[in-house]
Amino acid sequence: MSADQDGPRPFRYDAEVDPGEVRHIHYDVGETYLGRPVELPVTVINGEHAGPRLCLSAAIHGDEVNGVKVLQEVADRYTPADLHGTIVCLHVVNVPGYIAQQRHLPIYDQDLNRAFPGTEGGSTASRMARVIWDRFVSKCDVGLDFHTSTRNRMTVFHGRADMTDEGIERLVEAAGIPLVLSGEGSTGMMRRVATEKGIPIVTVEMGEANRFQPMLIDIGLQAVENVLAAYEMHPEATVRRPEFQKVLTSEHQKTWIRADNGGLVEMKWGPLPIVDEGETICVISDHFRTEEHVVEAPFDGYLAGILANPRVLPGHPLVHLVEIDDEDREHVRRTYEDVGFARHGTFHWMGKMGERMAEPMLEGRNVEDTDSG
Ligand SMILES: [Zn+2]
Repeated sequence: MSADQDGPRPFRYDAEVDPGEVRHIHYDVGETYLGRPVELPVTVINGEHAGPRLCLSAAIHGDEVNGVKVLQEVADRYTPADLHGTIVCLHVVNVPGYIAQQRHLPIYDQDLNRAFPGTEGGSTASRMARVIWDRFVSKCDVGLDFHTSTRNRMTVFHGRADMTDEGIERLVEAAGIPLVLSGEGSTGMMRRVATEKGIPIVTVEMGEANRFQPMLIDIGLQAVENVLAAYEMHPEATVRRPEFQKVLTSEHQKTWIRADNGGLVEMKWGPLPIVDEGETICVISDHFRTEEHVVEAPFDGYLAGILANPRVLPGHPLVHLVEIDDEDREHVRRTYEDVGFARHGTFHWMGKMGERMAEPMLEGRNVEDTDSG
């Protein structure tokens, strides 16, 4: 942590944002085919008081937009007067992917989240990563990088981070992330590179691509607020954390269960995302229903990721099942009663959940998307 004991300091990227100032920036991170700038929307809220610098980033995969909404809300909610330190919001890290509504950069299909910290003379992704890393991420002390599942799937709210790192451990606990899949991550991932360089960044996974899912966005906002509280960046921040935290390491069983048949998928689990060994997770059938293939849970587990497209081919992932024990199960049940997964977490093509999905999703909100998770 590099908090300045002498008082608040300007945030320097290649310009300066003074203490007490909020700046919305369109920052040049590359060029289009037309030779025009690719502009990354950034908000810097520099507190009137000294403190750490929190980097929030979204849409490094261009179709993963729940975090985009979290950052819009953050940029609107916090003001320098209350802030000890600085919040840097990288609203849309992968601008070209975001414009094309796709995960990768639309240039040779490069994954921007495998290109960090980047190089000046490297590939398009690498050059872009370099600018973002140099000007913003490397200037921060700690961060949350918001993701969703890739398209056609959804994921419960969880974190991915290297829990062997002390800074990460502190951050995960501070944010109140209920489930964490521990691992260092792939080469070139922003969170891996940052963590290795002493800037703990956790990947926050939540929901589906190309959607705003209000319940998850609220939990994401709460995670930001929790971090502001824990790092003493905001005296008025309200902390709300789940009552349990489960960290899954390589010693735990976790697997994507894949379809062995092509056809239509009918999910059978629910209402909570928990299954017992041998329990039916889903049934895959042909159009005449003359053939049905039952997919059973190979172990007691928690459904961390779920297929959201009811058509499959052999090899398509159906659910991401992670091992839990009886105590975890009780915690999961209480947690999701609290946050309402049973109402919000499933899809209307899951027959068992159909009637619940007819309920209004969140009071006082106009929610049109009944596929929320
Ligand atoms: Zn992602």
